[in-house]
This record gives sequence, structure tokens and C-alpha cells, in this order.
Amino acid sequence: RRSSPTMAEAAMAARVPPDEDGDECLPQYRHLLSPDLLAGQVAFITGGGSGIGFRIAEIFMRHGCRTVIASRNLQRVSEASKKLVAATGQQCLPLSIDVRQPQTIAAAVDEALKEFQRIDILINGAAGNFLCPASALSFNAFKTVIDIDTLGTFNTSKVLFEKYFRDHGGVIVNITATLSYRGQALQVHAGAAKAAIDAMTRHLAVEWGPNNIRVNSLAPGPISGTEGFRRLGGRIAEQSNEFSLIPLQRAGNKTEIAHSTLYLASPLASYVTGTTLVVDGGSWLTSPNSFSALLGIASSSAK
Ligand code: NAP
Repeated sequence: RRSSPTMAEAAMAARVPPDEDGDECLPQYRHLLSPDLLAGQVAFITGGGSGIGFRIAEIFMRHGCRTVIASRNLQRVSEASKKLVAATGQQCLPLSIDVRQPQTIAAAVDEALKEFQRIDILINGAAGNFLCPASALSFNAFKTVIDIDTLGTFNTSKVLFEKYFRDHGGVIVNITATLSYRGQALQVHAGAAKAAIDAMTRHLAVEWGPNNIRVNSLAPGPISGTEGFRRLGGRIAEQSNEFSLIPLQRAGNKTEIAHSTLYLASPLASYVTGTTLVVDGGSWLTSPNSFSALLGIASSSAK
């Protein structure tokens, strides 16, 4: 590898939008798209209190959108909401839901509709994940990931459909992953759960298209500053220079995922439905899929 960056590399680095580690808003933001791209709209974001979901909420709000951020931990979403409102000046309603329990979703959607009278966008971001070889995975651990990721995405989409989207149209973006594309080691639970969501994306796009509902998936690669990155060995991969194997030679950041989600959710993607947008710097094409190396990461991150 070359030691000092070339001019092309420096220019490329300058084109990467800045991000903040942890669940903090960006201290500055330069709009690449019109600040009123989502003006007047409302987005319901599951998992919006942390990580990728938090940044999606922020970037949407910076483009004129009001948001509902919903997850199990009310304190987490309430604190996140305060930061988001302070940084963007838009409204953000924090609500507690468990995506495994449809009645909690129904109550939250009712409250959101009471507050804002509309919901235009649903982001299904809630998920759980960890590294574990199939041989050590309990029946219950596999089921829990399917329950949160796959059933949770269906439950939330169906509640939104029945309560609002069927009659008004809408946009759904499901946050998935590339894990199943090459059978990623230690990820049978999340890989299977996300592959099922990608299938759901296509089925619902077909069934709900006539109701003017677009349904797409967005599959991130390794994204720094997230819980997923920490749990799935991102830091160790970074230290061992493994990201140089990715075609774009680096991990992605939350702002980049939020920008791609913004595209899918906005009228820029008005004819895009039933597809998966992979946002991973080409990672899944070239990254190692070594059972033994990942086992080492799993045991050191468990300590
Ligand atoms: P994260 O911060 O842990 O986000 C997961 C969110 O889901 C949390 O806010 C959590 O909040 C919520 N959640 C979990 N179980 C829930 C439940 N039963 N009901 C409602 N909400 C629930 O992780 P992240 O790394 O930013 O990941 C965000 C999304 O991107 C996930 O779908 C993940 O699979 C996907 N992804 C991430 C990466 C990455 O590198 N980080 C790569 C590929 C895909 P509560 O604990 O308050 O419920």
C-alpha cells in the first residue's frame, strides 16, 4: 500500500460527508440537496434513538421533515429527540414501542397521527445482532433476531398500511444487510432475518404499489460509530487494516447511510420500488468471510 495519500485520494476524502461518533448531532451540516426536500412530511423511524436511525432522523429533519423516533427505551428516544430538535429546529416525537408487539406499534402510530395528522415515510431500522456460530446459537437467540428484525418489520409496515398508507400512499425503507449474499460466518440469524426482509420488500412493493406505496431496502456495509460496528468486529477490522480490502478502502459513516436513505425516501426516487440499495463501498464483493478469524473477534468482543 502507498504511504502518503495521492491528490485523488485527498479529493475523495474531502467528498466524504462528516459524521460524529456516538449519538450526537453533526456540529455543522452542508446541504447537498435542497433543504426543503422533505418539507411538510412526517417520518416514523423505528430504532431512531441511536446509531444509523438517529442520523437518518437528523438528516431528514435537516431537510424539512418532522419525525417520530420509536424504540423500547423511552428515555433513550426522549434524550435523542431533545438533541435532534435543538440541532435542526424541527419537531420530533419520541415514543416507546416494541416492534414484536403490534399493539404497542398501533398505539404509537395513533399518537403520531394525533400529533402530526399524517405519516409519509416509514423507516424500519429496529434490529438486534451479535456474532455467534450457528452451533452455539440457542433456539431462542435465533428466534429473537427473527422476531425483532423480520416480524418487527412486517408488524410495523402492516400497522402503518392499515392506519394510514392504504388510503394516503407512503414510502417504506427497510434497513437490511448484505450478510446473506455470501453466507457471512457467525451471522446465520441476522443474515436469514435480513434476507427475509429483502424478500418482504419485493412482495409488499408488488401488493402495495397500486396504493401509491413504494417499498425499498437499504443494505449498509460496515458503518463506523454504531453499535453494530462495535459488536460485529468493526474496530478490530479497522485496527488490522482489513478495510483496505474494501473497494473504497474504508468503512462507511452514518451520514452516508442517512443520505442514501434520504434519496430512497424522497421524490428523487419516485419510480424506485421493490429493490435493495447496497451502500457498502463494494465491501461484500471483496471482504474476507473467514470462519476462524470471526470466531477470534467474537471471543475477544465478548470479553
Ligand atoms: P443500534 O444503534 O443498536 O440500533 C438498533 C435500534 O433498534 C436501537 O435504537 C434499539 O433501541 C432498537 N430496537 C431493538 N430492538 C427493538 C424492539 N424490539 N423494538 C423496537 N426497537 C428496537 O444499531 P445500528 O448499528 O445503528 O443499526 C441500525 C440498523 O442498521 C439495524 O437495522 C442494523 O441491522 C442495520 N445495519 C447496521 C450496520 C452497522 O455497521 N452498524 C451494518 C448493516 C446493517 P431500544 O434498545 O431502545 O429498543
